[in-house]
Amino acid sequence: MLLALPMTACGQDDQSRLITNEEAMEAAKDGKSIQRTDAEKEEYSRQLAVVDEMHLTQRVGSCVGIAKQGGAVICQTAPNQKVKIGRSEDDFYYENADNNGEIIIGFDRDEKRALIDLGIGKPIEYSFESRSYDISRIDGLPPSQVSTFTEAQLAHIRESSARKAEGFASRAETVGFQSGFDFPVKDYIKTTNFGAQRILNGEPKKPHMGVDMAAPLGTPIYAPADGVVSLADDDMYFEGALVMLDHGQGLISLYLHVNEIMVEPGQAVKQGEQIATIGSKGRSTGPHLCWRLKWRNRNLDPELLTKWPTE
Ligand SMILES: [Zn+2]
Repeated sequence: MLLALPMTACGQDDQSRLITNEEAMEAAKDGKSIQRTDAEKEEYSRQLAVVDEMHLTQRVGSCVGIAKQGGAVICQTAPNQKVKIGRSEDDFYYENADNNGEIIIGFDRDEKRALIDLGIGKPIEYSFESRSYDISRIDGLPPSQVSTFTEAQLAHIRESSARKAEGFASRAETVGFQSGFDFPVKDYIKTTNFGAQRILNGEPKKPHMGVDMAAPLGTPIYAPADGVVSLADDDMYFEGALVMLDHGQGLISLYLHVNEIMVEPGQAVKQGEQIATIGSKGRSTGPHLCWRLKWRNRNLDPELLTKWPTE
């Protein structure tokens, strides 16, 4: 982008002033050629650099994105700045911004408040309105039986959890979703929304933290944004086969119950690249993708991120 700047520098009289971009463009229209001296070119680049810097400083100390329950923002501060993130003055912790001063921050399904101190300017405070989540009520189920697992199943569950924890520990040095999230499946029927509250026989159960997308077995699943594979495991007790993508700084999307895994841990993937196929492995009632998104221990709404950077 060319910026038209007044080029009259201090102490210069009219005769020695630099030629503006506007003048250059006018001259070009008239078929004239305008020659800039090396000194003029240098002065031009210097001024453009100042403008770039001004743009940067305007963003520094601020966040952009979807500041609502289940959403996420990217904030700009100084490179490697220690950032205080919390829910209140007594409930906070620190994370470091990356080498470019960028930091991703996500908000939980039921987040009420978020305090972000970027170390520059005033701390940012968000108060979130409560979103209304679907309620799926199922009554008349046979009295719930206590889930009993064999020793072998318990061992499998423990091993699965430990491997998942490794996947969640990933902190890729990238901000891979700056240009937004796509849906990972092209044709699907959404069967459950993020956050749906399940009430079985009148008893509230854990909310559903993913978006369920039903499609035939073998339907391709694509990376919704650039990222790094942090887990690709087909031996998960509950999830069956599970892929995790780190889109930067531990913003991790998950693909549950997949049939075929087509990526390996550590592999960098581009938005739109196929990572797996739809399956029904693990605890699943039929072919579908359960698509989840996590930031630290917060559950985010992946569908909300398809509306990035603003809803
Ligand atoms: Zn699901």
